[in-house]
Amino acid sequence: MIDDELELLRAAVVAAGRRLAARGLIAASEGNLSVRLPDGSLLITPSGLRKDELTPADMVIVGLDGAAVPHRRGLRPSSDLALHRAVYEARPDVVAYAHAHIASAMALTLAGEHPDPAELPETALFIPRLPVVPLMPLGSAAAAQALAAALAEPPEPLPGVALMARHGAAAVGSGQPGNPAAAALATAVDRLELVDVLCRVWLDAALIRAARALGGS
Ligand SMILES: [Zn+2]
Repeated sequence: MIDDELELLRAAVVAAGRRLAARGLIAASEGNLSVRLPDGSLLITPSGLRKDELTPADMVIVGLDGAAVPHRRGLRPSSDLALHRAVYEARPDVVAYAHAHIASAMALTLAGEHPDPAELPETALFIPRLPVVPLMPLGSAAAAQALAAALAEPPEPLPGVALMARHGAAAVGSGQPGNPAAAALATAVDRLELVDVLCRVWLDAALIRAARALGGS
């Protein structure tokens, strides 16, 4: 990969982090993002830093063996690295991954609700289905495998995003001709935004129904 392309991808990850923060989908140092490079290594956000204050030089490269290339300033890859790797392994088409602790999704799954995008035709165009992965110990191999399995569950088209119960959502973007990794990452962020809208609408509808029920009408 030539240096210019790598710099474009670093900039794309910076832009994606700012988008997630601007939409209120991540707080503090939450969330993580990555893209898969042509040689199979990953460019991933560092652990512990705000995603709306990253610079291109903050990104960490992780090799095929899962080991991080030493960062010039000692930054470490996201603590969710195992989830990213599991998803990329399960989905050879995927070249971008984005994760956020979406408050509306956490609220609904905490309450045991499963929002169904098929109920909103326009949303269903972009998110035909939305699997839910149960809460598992953070950072566990089981959590990584469960998320990867949910995102690789047939039939086609495979899911572009999954809810993680009481945790948030993880979205992916496929690399297709004319859709390089930077565009795929933007698609993954789009999917997180759409999940947030779906969850907020679902929550509002539930509140309206509850108010009606209280009013007896
Ligand atoms: Zn998380």
